[in-house]
Amino acid sequence: MKKIQMVDLKGQYNGIKEVVNPAIQNIIDNASFINGPKVHEFQNNLEEYLGVKHVIPCANGTDALQIAMMGLGLKPGDEVITADFTFAATVEVIALLQLTPVLVDVDPDTFNIDIDAIKKAITPKTKAIVPVHLFGQCANMEAIMKIANENDLYVIEDNAQGIGANYTFSNGDKAKAGTIGHVSSTSFFPSKNLGCYGDGGAIFTNDDELAHIIRGIVNHGMYERYHHDVVGVNSRLDSIQAAVLDAKLPYLDTYNKRRRAAANKYDEAFKNIKQIATPFRQGSDDNHVFHQYTLKLKNVDRDGLVSFLQANDIPCGVYYPIPLHNQKAYQDSRYNEADFTVTNQLVKEVISLPMHTELDDEQITYITSKVIAFING
Ligand SMILES: *Cc1c(COP(=O)(O)O)cnc(C)c1O
Repeated sequence: MKKIQMVDLKGQYNGIKEVVNPAIQNIIDNASFINGPKVHEFQNNLEEYLGVKHVIPCANGTDALQIAMMGLGLKPGDEVITADFTFAATVEVIALLQLTPVLVDVDPDTFNIDIDAIKKAITPKTKAIVPVHLFGQCANMEAIMKIANENDLYVIEDNAQGIGANYTFSNGDKAKAGTIGHVSSTSFFPSKNLGCYGDGGAIFTNDDELAHIIRGIVNHGMYERYHHDVVGVNSRLDSIQAAVLDAKLPYLDTYNKRRRAAANKYDEAFKNIKQIATPFRQGSDDNHVFHQYTLKLKNVDRDGLVSFLQANDIPCGVYYPIPLHNQKAYQDSRYNEADFTVTNQLVKEVISLPMHTELDDEQITYITSKVIAFING
């Protein structure tokens, strides 16, 4: 059996070497390292794949979120509602821009931002909602867009974990994750569902004016060479990363299907184990692209399980072990523990098993048999 990894980037690379190597070599041969034609080609191909008018590449997913918020013209003191159970980057950029983060609880089944909690958190200062498509499953975008429309709020989708997921509206219409809100961000960090070989990110929007504003912000606030109209940043996707991404984009749907197939096999193996809740799936099958495969454990010694798996050469992870509202950097006296019952519970129960495009049946059988062996003592 191949050694089990949380994410098998080498194995994936071996399958696409013939496409990726010449793409990288081409950038070097042409010395078109920054803002080369490949960046625009990838941008166009991703726009077409997503069905979105504008993709603006940038340096990483954290920058993408920050730039999206700058583009919307959010001002210090504006309140931005986001999920308590996510990677810290989401709340970090809100705080960095001196906006006021308002963390709210999540849904116990999907792990995504709770709709009633959003409604409760809205004040006259609220300007935006940032749903995160956590672990690859789309947040309840229809309900979120309705709240946003009723309250005149922006929606910024943090799509770092959900690229390629298809959200289905109640009327049957479908849209790709990251194309539903006013603006979205994604990350091309190597382990993400569409990952490059370094750092990368992008902003998506269907709004022409916002896209124009953002294109200036990523380039030092320049709309005309050496005219700096607004305070911007320097955030670029370099050409080598764009070449890797452009070579990998045609595989994204296949990769996400492989992730779902691995998730189905895990689900099947765990279906009769009452101490394990397998990932709840909302909506259509393609609503979830399994960036992570995350279980909830009931009455299981999680630390013991982690050690047992490690001793059996099975890596695993706890995403995320501390609620954001309890992180030193994001504490706020206005928070009340009673408003975070779900996150407070999830941080104690969740465990993520290896999930990637190269997992094979033998590995999954081995992993599930060890998890079950531990639980059955
Ligand atoms: C990875 C991630 C980010 C940040 O992306 P980087 O490219 O690492 O900056 C932001 N939000 C979420 C939910 C993420 O998973």
